[in-house]
Amino acid sequence: MKTIIANWKMNNSFEYAEYWLEKVSNHINNEKYKIILAPPTIMIDHIDEILMNSELERLENASKNVGELDEKELEELMSEIRDISISGQDCHHQEKGAFTGDVSAKMLSEAGCEYVIIGHSERRKYHFEQDKVILEKVKSSLKENLIPILCIGENLEVRNNVSHIEFIRSQLENNIPKDLEIKDLIIAYEPIWSIGTGKVPANDEIAEIAVYIKNHVYDNFPNIKNYKILYGGSVKAENASIVNIANIDGFLVGGASVDDKSFIDILNKI
Ligand code: PEP
Repeated sequence: MKTIIANWKMNNSFEYAEYWLEKVSNHINNEKYKIILAPPTIMIDHIDEILMNSELERLENASKNVGELDEKELEELMSEIRDISISGQDCHHQEKGAFTGDVSAKMLSEAGCEYVIIGHSERRKYHFEQDKVILEKVKSSLKENLIPILCIGENLEVRNNVSHIEFIRSQLENNIPKDLEIKDLIIAYEPIWSIGTGKVPANDEIAEIAVYIKNHVYDNFPNIKNYKILYGGSVKAENASIVNIANIDGFLVGGASVDDKSFIDILNKI
């Protein structure tokens, strides 16, 4: 079962979001993949409501007497049948405070998120996020029972210097807490030189990093119970066979997830 994340970044309208959900919902294949949608923060609540309404409808069609369930039982049942999970694109590392424009992990969780992307290279670049704050964000998301989707990956200079393994090692060591039990974690390997550029590493380059991450986590993070390794960077239907590389559990898709058709084309190749 692969995990496919759609990271819309700052794209799509409320109206188009509804259309996208309807189209993608018709292509769900629960045996092959799990879909996680990371919409702009302001759309999360609305998307959660749409998904809940469709879950209620499905339960009612399956003749489940939802009226007899208490709120908690109903919530549990609905989350069990949820086909598309929601992720935040970022969160603040503090629970609350004077941080204009930010949202906390707790707020994302209350709005319906089960996941949050942390340390995306665009946050590191445009918001000057350093390893220290990324580590705090991961801790804060775990505290709120969100599953962190930690993005790591080297830039072209590091790759050309052949220091990418050391770079990945240092991001793993500096971004993942060792003093907390981590039930679930997603690590997205996203080489910066591949994001939005159309350039994709060779299969053996992706395989090298994936096996390195796997071994490093095994040797150094006994506190992590379950984790997945995803690849991200210019994924589209034409290169979706990357999903078959050893130790790759799915994709984080940016550009090709914005439009329903190009995203569905990727799903059809899984
Ligand atoms: C991303 O931003 O995480 C990403 C992988 O983008 P793209 O698919 O557009 O390269």
